[in-house]
Amino acid sequence: MAKVAFIGLGNMGGPMAKNLVAAGHAVTVFDLMPEACADLQQAGASVAATTADAAEGVDYVISMLPAGKHVAGVYLGDDGLLAKLDGSTTVLDCSTIDAPTSREVGEAAAKLGIGFMDAPVSGGVAAAAAGTLAFMCGGSADTFEKAKVILADMGKNIFHAGPPGAGQVAKGCNNMLLAIHMIGTTEALEMGVRNGLDPKVLSEIMLASSGRNWSLEVYNPYPGVMEGAPASNDYKPGFMVDLMVKDLGLAQAIAEDSGVANRMGQLAGELYRSHQEGGNGQRDFSSVLELLKD
Ligand code: NAD
Repeated sequence: MAKVAFIGLGNMGGPMAKNLVAAGHAVTVFDLMPEACADLQQAGASVAATTADAAEGVDYVISMLPAGKHVAGVYLGDDGLLAKLDGSTTVLDCSTIDAPTSREVGEAAAKLGIGFMDAPVSGGVAAAAAGTLAFMCGGSADTFEKAKVILADMGKNIFHAGPPGAGQVAKGCNNMLLAIHMIGTTEALEMGVRNGLDPKVLSEIMLASSGRNWSLEVYNPYPGVMEGAPASNDYKPGFMVDLMVKDLGLAQAIAEDSGVANRMGQLAGELYRSHQEGGNGQRDFSSVLELLKD
């Protein structure tokens, strides 16, 4: 069993850290919010007063933070965590952030002989609690071997995407495609309904035809078609519009940095921002169907 420091115990990090405790690891946690730490303490973790205290003598540091600036703040600089670690610790940042910050932290870690991976996740809060997340990892093959051992206690599918930053790129590609096929699925269903089709029957037809996709298969955006989908529960998340807007912004930056003319991805970003501005930020991302009602 490993010694693990877990930094960032929010909606995702909290349940992920609990799964590590449940798997028998010695977990020390830190979050800026004392309540989040207290919750983990109840689950069996130790609580540290600072990130540096949490990381002392551990095999792994795992972080799950909101954005690139938080990750840079935790790891980089004279007061950052990297300066306090040695090569015996592996650092896994599971936050969804911009690829340049992941590369910067990866390079700083490499200079100090510390193994680093960006390992953003797909799956959301339910998968974090169930321990069924997918991890998309960017880092060296050696670090990936070490990472797999611990990530397996929080997830089901663990992929090595490439060097540092590659996990963030994979996540950006995936979520851009998710946004595009979700919007496409809402348009197809609404068009069918306005022409007298039953959305359930149309969904069955498209599922057995070439329009089949994940949104249709497990996350049908039309209310009443799929029991258990957010659409059938007043679009309670699920995966919030605010997070999709964040991810599409990160995907857009990747596209621009690499000179890709991603017109569909760009349009998906515009539509989701407009839906967010309409007061839907905290609703599930499949509620983008309602843009078609206006
Ligand atoms: P959250 O806001 O619920 O949690 C973030 C936590 O980090 C908070 O508890 C905050 O106090 C803590 N924090 C911030 N700065 C800190 C610091 N310097 N030191 C210690 N703790 C600090 O966010 P979340 O929903 O858990 O998401 C975390 C990451 O996972 C984000 O990058 C998000 O994009 C990604 N993600 C979220 C989901 C989801 O469905 N929520 C799904 C996939 C990926």
